[in-house]
Amino acid sequence: MLVKDNFEKIEKNIEEACVKVNRPKNDITLIAVTKYVTIERAQEALEAGVRHLGENREDGLLAKFEILKDKPVWHFIGSLQTRKVKSIIDYVDYIHSLDRLSLAKEIHKRADRTIKCLVQVNTSQEETKHGLAPEETINFIKNLAEYTNIQIVGLMTMAPFTDDEAQLRSCFQTLKRLQTEIQAMHLDYAPCIELSMGMSNDYSIAIEEGATMIRIGTALVGNEK
Ligand SMILES: *Cc1c(COP(=O)(O)O)cnc(C)c1O
Repeated sequence: MLVKDNFEKIEKNIEEACVKVNRPKNDITLIAVTKYVTIERAQEALEAGVRHLGENREDGLLAKFEILKDKPVWHFIGSLQTRKVKSIIDYVDYIHSLDRLSLAKEIHKRADRTIKCLVQVNTSQEETKHGLAPEETINFIKNLAEYTNIQIVGLMTMAPFTDDEAQLRSCFQTLKRLQTEIQAMHLDYAPCIELSMGMSNDYSIAIEEGATMIRIGTALVGNEK
């Protein structure tokens, strides 16, 4: 499938989900996750009109950053080793996987500007998933004040890979509830306006539950080189 055709279909689904819950379509930022695919395929996504790209590894990010002609907004979405911060920090606009103080400290130290970060929350409580437990999240954010190069623009989660709609909704609702709590704290370093949730198989539900950023790989650019 051409990226352009997938893109049109996804745009239509985004619109439908927005209409269903009475949200404006431009609330939603579509991030094309290009981690599985070639630079050419990522370029095809940009030509189709995608403006945001997501990568989960240092090498994938750096290779595409160098070569892509159009400059997208870059999202780092994968679990981030502390020692890799130095090599990606100049290339990313958003980091979606902040999940520990040692990582916050390193981002603060290596950045020469404000880095927009999302705190990753393990809303499904699956052991294999990264992220903070929901009940740890508020305290974690309270402890970030000293890292002045970090702005907490939102929260991110990965729902389990399942067709169980109730379970998906429950994960997304947990993230939304935390966002409401954090916004009520009125921390100037944590406006927390974004909810990064929803992937190829669950983005319509995520939008219904309040997503502002959806991260789509397979359904948009495919998952084969
Ligand atoms: C791979 C990945 C995605 C995209 O997954 P698809 O199911 O291919 O859409 C989204 N978010 C994260 C964190 C990922 O690692």
